[in-house]
Amino acid sequence: MVAGASASGVRGRILDLMFVRGRIEEIRPAPGRMRWIRVGGVPGLAWTPGQQVRLHVADITAARTWVSGAVRHALRTYSVWDYDADADVMELCVMDHGADAPGVRWLRDARPGREVVFGKPEGTFGLRPAAYHLFAGEETASVAFGAMLRAAAPGEPVHGVIETARPEDRLPLPRGDELTWRHRGDASAAGSQTLVDAVRGLELPEEPGIAYVAGEARTVHAVRAHLVGERGWPRRSVLVKAFWTPGKRGME
Ligand SMILES: Cc1cc2nc3c(=O)[nH]c(=O)nc-3n(C[C@H](O)[C@H](O)[C@H](O)COP(=O)(O)OP(=O)(O)OC[C@H]3O[C@@H](n4cnc5c(N)ncnc54)[C@H](O)[C@@H]3O)c2cc1C
Repeated sequence: MVAGASASGVRGRILDLMFVRGRIEEIRPAPGRMRWIRVGGVPGLAWTPGQQVRLHVADITAARTWVSGAVRHALRTYSVWDYDADADVMELCVMDHGADAPGVRWLRDARPGREVVFGKPEGTFGLRPAAYHLFAGEETASVAFGAMLRAAAPGEPVHGVIETARPEDRLPLPRGDELTWRHRGDASAAGSQTLVDAVRGLELPEEPGIAYVAGEARTVHAVRAHLVGERGWPRRSVLVKAFWTPGKRGME
């Protein structure tokens, strides 16, 4: 608890000044190692599909968080899978990537009724006007892609490759049947040649569209190198967002 904040009402007011507070309404298994988390009681969020929130995976008002040093890893970033402004509900889709890490521990401890604290939606990873949209990424990236594909106008052409470990790990993406799916099996998603090769193999229109490339850092840079270096796309037409990479903690 923050010094001087003896009543829970004070704690709440402090948090409400700077962050958004909601409650977990439901946790549902998602494909693969992911889980959907419905967070209710969050009215009036200004959210653009593709944006993310910074989730408090530790209680920054608790003395133990500061004393233990956990405050250094109190925030983790997750894309918003969907936001229902009528129901005041935000939905996340979080992967248990297997490491003993703060985000994974938060996910494993998550229960209906538990308070959730997060920063307002942020980020510039969102649809841009383009002749067509090109998506490339793995499981974690497909959370943001799901929101963006839902937001794309029906007539707007979409292309892309989604890589998952196995076929059963695919998130149900809107217009997912218009995308190419690739499976890496037991190989790592880090520095994935599977994804780069699949993007290289796509039949795309002559002119560039806008590419949205997200996921593991080395992989996304390799996809950009292919689009810019081999296909001649302008760098500004390739939006890249590194979500994680081996050995780094909390990329944003
Ligand atoms: C803009 C943005 C949006 C994101 N959206 C989502 C989302 O919607 N869903 C989601 O699940 N994740 C998402 N992520 C990724 C998530 O923030 C990271 O996976 C984060 O590292 C998780 O924190 P952690 O405490 O579990 O692990 P950390 O303590 O940050 O990392 C510990 C170690 O775990 C390993 N690791 C971390 N993430 C992964 C992974 N995905 N796969 C394999 N190994 C990993 C790395 O070796 C890392 O060094 C997003 C990231 C960003 C920047």
